[in-house]
Amino acid sequence: MLREHLMGRGLRNLSVLKAMRDVPRHLFVPEAMRNLAYEDCPLPIGFGQSISQPFIVACMSILLDLRPGMKVLEVGTGSGYQAAILASMGARVYSIERIPELHKAAAERFRRMGTESAAINLFLGDGTFGLPDYAPFDRILVTAGGPDIPEPLVMQMADPGIMVIPVGNERNRQRIVRVFYQNGKYSARASRSVSFVELLGEHGWHTDRTHPTF
Ligand code: SAH
Repeated sequence: MLREHLMGRGLRNLSVLKAMRDVPRHLFVPEAMRNLAYEDCPLPIGFGQSISQPFIVACMSILLDLRPGMKVLEVGTGSGYQAAILASMGARVYSIERIPELHKAAAERFRRMGTESAAINLFLGDGTFGLPDYAPFDRILVTAGGPDIPEPLVMQMADPGIMVIPVGNERNRQRIVRVFYQNGKYSARASRSVSFVELLGEHGWHTDRTHPTF
């Protein structure tokens, strides 16, 4: 995975490559698909959601420009893989998921793996509100795509701070946007096109076509 899909496509960031070498991705995918765990493709994790492809996880992690000890908010825990990568890079991770079953499965996975609970804190709820009780965050990473940048997340950025978020007015086509906050001023820059699952919630898309009970 490292040689072919990451380094082979020009990724050179050592701390990200090291984290992607150290975190066993096969423990985050459904058992029946373990043979595909190190291919460069997203895989279904149930409830219409998916674990992102390794190349995109690496790109998002690089764009975050993370340093050890930083406090990071992740919106969209899903399998927990991206959270594990951030924790492996030395971040203190606060990750929120809206689907109870996925939240529970990720918590159980980290418990079994013996992940330190101080390194990854998991929450259940609508992540478009962020986690005001734990703000501000040095970094915010949104791993689902919404029509706009949720206002509460902007308000929860530390100064200096960076947010990486897929934004697009089509439901499954976005550009990755990087928001910078420094000396009280915001700026934003768009980078590559991506296809994330929908960010559903108060400050995201409003109708849930995949999980109508929540
Ligand atoms: N980071 C995940 C990728 C998960 S896919 C991983 O590494 O596996 C995106 C996830 O975002 C899905 O699990 C989806 O349920 C979740 N999501 C979508 N809208 C959300 C919201 N408003 N708050 C929290 N999670 C949300």
